[in-house]
Amino acid sequence: MAGIACAGELTQAGITVTLLEKEPVIGGWAADYCCKATDQCNRCFVCVADKEREGVRLSDAVTLLTNHQVREVEKNGSGYRLRVENKVEGVEKEVRADAVVLATGFKPFDATQKGELGYGRYADVLTGLDLERMLRNQGSARKPSDGQVPNKIAFIQCVGSRDESIGHLYCSKACCAYALRMARVIRSQNPGSEIFFYYMDIQPAGRLFDETLKACEEDPNFHFIRAIPSKIYRYYQKPGLMMRSLEAESGTIEEKFFDLIVLSIGMEPNPENEGLWEKAGLKPGREGFVDPATCKDGIFVAGTVSGPKDIERSIMNAKQAALSVLRYLEGQS
Ligand SMILES: Cc1cc2nc3c(=O)[nH]c(=O)nc-3n(C[C@H](O)[C@H](O)[C@H](O)COP(=O)(O)OP(=O)(O)OC[C@H]3O[C@@H](n4cnc5c(N)ncnc54)[C@H](O)[C@@H]3O)c2cc1C
Ligand code: SF4
Ligand code: SF4
Repeated sequence: MAGIACAGELTQAGITVTLLEKEPVIGGWAADYCCKATDQCNRCFVCVADKEREGVRLSDAVTLLTNHQVREVEKNGSGYRLRVENKVEGVEKEVRADAVVLATGFKPFDATQKGELGYGRYADVLTGLDLERMLRNQGSARKPSDGQVPNKIAFIQCVGSRDESIGHLYCSKACCAYALRMARVIRSQNPGSEIFFYYMDIQPAGRLFDETLKACEEDPNFHFIRAIPSKIYRYYQKPGLMMRSLEAESGTIEEKFFDLIVLSIGMEPNPENEGLWEKAGLKPGREGFVDPATCKDGIFVAGTVSGPKDIERSIMNAKQAALSVLRYLEGQS
């Protein structure tokens, strides 16, 4: 998303852009997300991302190279030389540029690392990414185990973020907003459903967030529970999934049954691209994402490569990166 937004901004200023994407389609993770409208638009920004993507695809000023993975970025005189692998033909080629914007994004947290939450073991434990894809592709939430509509649904926040046990102390910024918006979609599609939202903190993100939160708080079938879930398991004699949690207010250990459990996973640095940053002279910050302060001499970063952001903030950050590129190129000429 960030690469696309930055490319769009640069082409409007008359700059010719080559957009390199390792996957067959552009758009990054956001291309898989669902519209989170209920009786009104809830400003999740997914359709804005879809629109920006289409704009870049149609622009003559952008050379779009999909299935092209950047393997190395190297300073070459006053410009840059990129070693790029064409993943379809299995050949390497060189791309030259006066300036480079790294917008290689993040990696969604791998929920199997939290074995106690049963992801990968129980079909009805999903990640937020799975639910995004399910709502986008199938239109409604279903239990993968039997295709039935779930009535009791738990969302567990901060999975892979704010968690000392995995060394991620940072907040992923987008997961409270995406989880609340998807929970509202489920509630509006199935008025008989009940949502149990397990959280320790709520991080606002994006426009209309306060309205979304207020609507959830006023909904009698929406329960906010300040607790850390410690285990998800099954009793084979009973349907559903059992969840054990330590509730913050009462200090008691509670057990509840659910039809579907959604793990609100966060973002982490993409280890696949560490070599790229280092060779380009960039350094990681405290949380492992690229430290934007280390950008110099015509190399820039945009979007979540420098830390968690929602789509709106990724686009804003990409537009700022485009301005920095323009200033740099003006200084060179
Ligand atoms: C489960 C989940 C749901 C979310 N839902 C929402 C939501 O509803 N609304 C919202 O505002 N935000 C949401 N977010 C946040 C959103 O995903 C990010 O803000 C957005 O994807 C950031 O875009 P990006 O371009 O920085 O990174 P990415 O989406 O990671 O894009 C990076 C791109 O770079 C490509 N790439 C990586 N390495 C290379 C390489 N070496 N060579 C070539 N190409 C490469 C990738 O294939 C990808 O296309 C959600 C996040 C998660 C985890
Ligand atoms: S911003 Fe989100 S909720 Fe609103 S119409 Fe677009 S995709 Fe749907
Ligand atoms: S956005 Fe919410 S769920 Fe995500 S890490 Fe921050 S507080 Fe936790």
